[in-house]
Amino acid sequence: MRECTLSIVKPDGVANNLIGEVIRRVEAKNIKVIAAKMILMTKEQAKGFYAVHEGKPFFESVTDFMSSGPCMVMVLEGEDAISIYRELMGATNKDNAKEGTIRRDFATDIEKNVVHGSDSTETAEFEIRYFFNSLEIQKR
Ligand code: GDP
Repeated sequence: MRECTLSIVKPDGVANNLIGEVIRRVEAKNIKVIAAKMILMTKEQAKGFYAVHEGKPFFESVTDFMSSGPCMVMVLEGEDAISIYRELMGATNKDNAKEGTIRRDFATDIEKNVVHGSDSTETAEFEIRYFFNSLEIQKR
């Protein structure tokens, strides 16, 4: 199914010059970048984005991290884009991530793990709307 997903190159990925590497891997899977921009989230904006994790032990820490520096947010579109991008990313914890995945290759730890990707069509819809308006998304 053709679908859209939200990708974020997180502050560690931007700081470590991995924007190009992430896009290269995405495009190599024939997934298109249909919207993209650099953002710097406030703590409140990071909390809104990760609202599903409110109450978890890492909530304060991950929202501090996500608001600690610029991120690149992108809308990706393609056949099975959600699951293909999740496969490219690898498991949350780099120690569990498969060889050749972005997180296995570049993550620092379970929190500074380079990339975010939506995990379902419902979350993709929420997350894309969280960062982009309709004028910013070039739909074919
Ligand atoms: P994802 O879908 O693979 O990004 O994982 P989750 O939705 O479960 O978690 C969201 C993000 O919170 C992860 O990508 C990490 O940056 C961070 N995170 C998840 N689990 C932990 C944890 O146990 N400790 C810390 N410090 N951060 C975590």
